[in-house]
Amino acid sequence: MIPNPRTRTCSRFRANSEEEGSSLRDRVEELSCNEVIGGGGGGGRRGMMFSEEDRRAIDEERVPLVSLADVVGGGDRDSSSNHPRIDFQYIAKLVEQILPFSLLLLIVLIRQHFQGFFVTISLSAVMFKSNELVKKQTALKGDQKIFILLGVSFSFMLYVICIYWWYQNDDVLYPLAMFPPESTPPFWHAIFIILVNDILVRQAAMAFKCLLLVYYKNGRCHNFRQQAQMLTLVEYTLLLYRTFLPAPVWYRFFFNKDFGSLFSSLITGLYLTFKLTSSVEKIQCLISALRALSKKEVHYGVYATTEQVNAAGDLCAICQEKMHAPILLCCNHMFCEECLSEWFEREWTCPLCRTLVKPSDLRTFGDGSTSLFYQLF
Ligand SMILES: [Zn+2]
Ligand SMILES: [Zn+2]
Repeated sequence: MIPNPRTRTCSRFRANSEEEGSSLRDRVEELSCNEVIGGGGGGGRRGMMFSEEDRRAIDEERVPLVSLADVVGGGDRDSSSNHPRIDFQYIAKLVEQILPFSLLLLIVLIRQHFQGFFVTISLSAVMFKSNELVKKQTALKGDQKIFILLGVSFSFMLYVICIYWWYQNDDVLYPLAMFPPESTPPFWHAIFIILVNDILVRQAAMAFKCLLLVYYKNGRCHNFRQQAQMLTLVEYTLLLYRTFLPAPVWYRFFFNKDFGSLFSSLITGLYLTFKLTSSVEKIQCLISALRALSKKEVHYGVYATTEQVNAAGDLCAICQEKMHAPILLCCNHMFCEECLSEWFEREWTCPLCRTLVKPSDLRTFGDGSTSLFYQLF
């Protein structure tokens, strides 16, 4: 904490040291000034100015220099030169003071709501695993085993039903049908209801997606494009439903007469307005997904005509086989639809000339994935 002598004028410190009662700190500063002025030759003089006792006293005096008071006030001496470092120290000090206490609070909070925390974390873990499983099964494309798909679907359903049966008295089921819970839930219980529903609804949707995979595997022609569009449509329907799922719970929570009727009506009204505006986007996505399914068109190119296919030589550069449902890209290259859709899962370019292909505005969930974000509000 010895200030940099190069930023100071030495005369000031000499004057200070001559004053009565000047502190050891000033003498240290003077020493630094002498070093700068006298260069390397001041070794002997330094020995004369400070006895061993002095040095120990200086070392002791250094400690309070880092005290919070100095740090907060910036110190009357150091305010001009050391600003950034002081701010950083201040923040570090604050965090150091606040962090242990917040950790303690967190531990107590977890202890108080241990069951809630435990249940939500386990349900989430199962959901993440199931998501991976469904994605893996979807990626198999026609090589899935039907009994595995049916088994997975059945066990997901059974699991969801068991959890709801276990919590049947906990007001968890009402929001599923858009009814507010019977009594006003405490804050943490409201969060619990919302999280459990949000997770289990996705789990049920995964069971449904597995049934879809069975359906498309059994279909006479393996129409994987339509399968991907159906999976996307299911996911967007689910996203829209999940947007509304917390609404009944928060409605009951906000519409609390204890707050006074005017205040509670105002807050509830505001919440419902926010909810409606945020759901508009989800509705638009759902409409786009529906349109993609009904129009049977591809957004990144056009289906090639027979003449175009013949002109290009009927061979797909990706699979090296006769083209199946060939698609002409904007760069005039042609590939099977299946090969392209697989390629686009990695990057949106032409596999031959690397021309950028405009991806769809709509995020596709054709790989069987489920959105992992939690819809809390
Ligand atoms: Zn191909
Ligand atoms: Zn190309």
